[in-house]
Amino acid sequence: MSYLEAKVPPIRELRRPETALAHGEFRCGGGPKKAVCAIMAQADRDFTQGSICPLLPALGIMTSLPQTVVLLHGAVGCGSCAVGNNVNVRAGNAARGRADLDALWLSTALNEDNVIFGGGEKLASALIEADAIYQPKVILAVSGCLPGVIGDDIDNVAAETQPKVKAKILPIHCEGFKSRFMATAYDVIYHALGRNLLPLESGPKDKNAINVMNVGSMGLADEKELARLLGELGLKANFFPVFASPDSFALATRARASISVCPTHDDYFLSHLWEKYGVPAIIRHMPIGIKNTSLWLTHLGEELNMAAQAQDLADKEEAKLNAALAPYKEFFAGKTAFVSAGEYRSLATGLLLRELGFKLLGIRSFHFDGFAEVELAKLDQGEEFIFNVANVQPFEEANLLARLRPDIFLGHWHGNSTAARLGIPAQVIYNSGYAYIGYQGAFDLARRLKRRLTNPAFYKRVGRFAKLPYRAEWYAADPFSHIRAQEAESPLTAQTQKANFAEARP
Ligand code: SF4
Repeated sequence: MSYLEAKVPPIRELRRPETALAHGEFRCGGGPKKAVCAIMAQADRDFTQGSICPLLPALGIMTSLPQTVVLLHGAVGCGSCAVGNNVNVRAGNAARGRADLDALWLSTALNEDNVIFGGGEKLASALIEADAIYQPKVILAVSGCLPGVIGDDIDNVAAETQPKVKAKILPIHCEGFKSRFMATAYDVIYHALGRNLLPLESGPKDKNAINVMNVGSMGLADEKELARLLGELGLKANFFPVFASPDSFALATRARASISVCPTHDDYFLSHLWEKYGVPAIIRHMPIGIKNTSLWLTHLGEELNMAAQAQDLADKEEAKLNAALAPYKEFFAGKTAFVSAGEYRSLATGLLLRELGFKLLGIRSFHFDGFAEVELAKLDQGEEFIFNVANVQPFEEANLLARLRPDIFLGHWHGNSTAARLGIPAQVIYNSGYAYIGYQGAFDLARRLKRRLTNPAFYKRVGRFAKLPYRAEWYAADPFSHIRAQEAESPLTAQTQKANFAEARP
């Protein structure tokens, strides 16, 4: 049975049971205990601090959808990160020349009375009001923790209210307490979109169209780069879902193939397109860095019987880029780096940093699943680095950074602020206004890193005057001393083949 036949998708812990929550110091590279064998499945911490609720990445995707109202059914503070995320929505819409810049994010703001008597009526009247005021094409009725705890049936409310509104109502189950893996957010969104926005039957195939799922952390510059590369092969990219209109989902069912940009983000939806509509999917590489972008292209070429053209294109792009990067590599040689981000982006960035000449000291990944084993193996080049799976946990990050003191830290805003307060120069890893993906992205990142390292004065000054809240005893302690795990044989090896759907699926 397809997952999409169920009302609610399974959480990542159940769908990908090899997913690792945390593990201790794991030195990758240079020995038999490399890569998968040191993973402790389902490890946990006896102290946690500041982790990510799946609503955060979910809202990043949902609020980018045009003509869509996101109606959060929960307490008023639930998902309030959407307010800050509106910067990205405005920038993304402006870059695409759209008149409606802002995200439409509303909340039912459940209170104590609703907790006791139920919030269904409030949700129904909010749906009707949102439809009348904003006249959207779609309303996403998103359940946070509270309705999940008190038992509000958002599917039933949506079904009963649907005849009274013009917009299509999509119930989305994103109760934060159900999963500790932010990647659950992707499945939750694509479950709702797949159940409601795809046609019953696919139309005639478009032989040039290639589905490319864009992730929330990609900008328009990244889409242009991938469209450019596909265009060189005579192919046309169909980008969705971020900033894509609901109609692009119908086109996705008629494409010649799908290629993933981030396997852990894309597999749920692309697998469904394959199983139901016969659109083959390549789910393996993230086109960040030189080697990875070439692998991304050549795997697509092989799938489409265009292997020679794709290889030729990759060779030419690599030669051009390597010539342009030569002075940068000289500058970066021997400098040290530390990366903290989502699973695939962090690992692919680690490889890119090595390609640029950096010595990689460590990677922190928000989660780890079987897909990323492929990416981790690419980093097994004999040079050790620390690989720490952590759903944020800033105290661990502070301890690690204070010990390792890399020349540059690449991370999200929270990690960057930790690094800065230790006086370590930081480069934002996620800014959808910058290019990051493809050959162009590799060059742009090199330029930004050189600028950051040439003048680190701001970070040195922040480090002098702004301090982190941890005591000296914590910096002296083992950074992984709060991790409690049973050492277990990793089940990842069995999952390796599944990571490549091109091989494992029909
Ligand atoms: S879904 Fe739950 S954990 Fe997430 S923001 Fe809302 S209340 Fe917090």
